[in-house]
Amino acid sequence: MNFWNPYLETLPREAYDQIELSYFRRMFSFAKEHSGLYRDKLKGIEEKDIRSLDDIKKIPFTEKEEMRKYQEVEPFPYGGLLGAPIEKVTSFRQTSGTTGKPIYVPETYESWQWRVESWCHILYMAGFRPRHRVFLPFGYNVYVAFWEAHFASEKVGCELVPGGALDTKGRIHKIQEIRANGMMNTPTYGLHIAEEAKSMGIDPASLGIERMLCAGEPMPPATRKRLEELYQCHVFDHIGGTEPCAWAGMCEAKDGMHIIEPFFLVEILDRETLQKEVDEGEIGVAVVTPLGRRSFPLIRFNTKDLVIKGKNGCSCGRTSKKIKEVVGRTDDLRKVRGVLFSPKTVEEVLRKEFQEVEEFEIIVERRGLMDVITLRAEANPGLTVSSIEQTKARLRESLKVATNLSFNVIMEPPGSLPRYTLKAKRFKDLREEKRNE
Ligand SMILES: [Zn+2]
Repeated sequence: MNFWNPYLETLPREAYDQIELSYFRRMFSFAKEHSGLYRDKLKGIEEKDIRSLDDIKKIPFTEKEEMRKYQEVEPFPYGGLLGAPIEKVTSFRQTSGTTGKPIYVPETYESWQWRVESWCHILYMAGFRPRHRVFLPFGYNVYVAFWEAHFASEKVGCELVPGGALDTKGRIHKIQEIRANGMMNTPTYGLHIAEEAKSMGIDPASLGIERMLCAGEPMPPATRKRLEELYQCHVFDHIGGTEPCAWAGMCEAKDGMHIIEPFFLVEILDRETLQKEVDEGEIGVAVVTPLGRRSFPLIRFNTKDLVIKGKNGCSCGRTSKKIKEVVGRTDDLRKVRGVLFSPKTVEEVLRKEFQEVEEFEIIVERRGLMDVITLRAEANPGLTVSSIEQTKARLRESLKVATNLSFNVIMEPPGSLPRYTLKAKRFKDLREEKRNE
């Protein structure tokens, strides 16, 4: 069987639209009645004003900043974001707080089950089945994605092995010891495990991983292919966040990601105006409404994720809408010397054409009146001095073609750049740090 939920995954478009509109209206009224944030925010708009999916566009977005403000009031620590009586809350999670004060996220048992169920779609779509022994190479702490992955694996019937409290070498030994054949990780950490395995004299392909599910960072197609080559396995991507949940995942056709309908209403809006839905193949900002989670109601949450809208229809038979690719975060897009620049383009070039580069870092700074963009590239051990010079020249050329910018390229010795297990921070805009001082 190819579907986790054959009925919900193959509905005709009109049925999805109808169900999502009716769920949206229900969530709208629920949020207005039960959450302090929406009691204020939705004042003056009534459920009866929402008669079509177009009418939804009149409702204001929810931004992270205002959520922080509403979190400050009682009941501690969720404040006006809570949609259920506090005694009903059964688990605490939070965002990582990389962009400011963390958001605390309450789940009731019912909401948590809803979240796990939607995650099952992601796992099943990526081909995870009861025959898989899945290694999760992280300590979970308060971060929701691991817990979702853990409980959804169990529900799908996989055998889940928690891999916290070990260093990377210890994790590699554990994978070998228990013969894990599935893994879930960030793309960066997948590459790092492979690198570490090689340094131990172990070919990553010999670990026996059949299937890998990635998340946590935008994964360019070239990075996905590189992981597939290293481990000789199938690698899948998905996208989500602590607040809106995971809302789209890649199926075995590996041609974009399916939006998990009708669990989520996802709008992909023109990034300048945030008004109009973009056309297929265009980049837009994802605005997400989870349609069945009551402990933490969210209406039109601005994820700030930039995605390319995908085509309709898929060889896997699922009928839900698709996104073609995750481009990055609106926060990551910068103007450098007047050119719009996305760090993901650099990663795509490096992973595709430069097998000899292990790690990298991009730095933008201002010297005098001029923006200077620098790539620090870490060479493979064993690269000769003359090949390092050649790589440098090739890097400058390829990056110029891909980004329209002239890079200052510095080659760094093996092992000198930081390694990341969770969200990699490979892009530094020092112009901004100056401005914020
Ligand atoms: Zn598909």
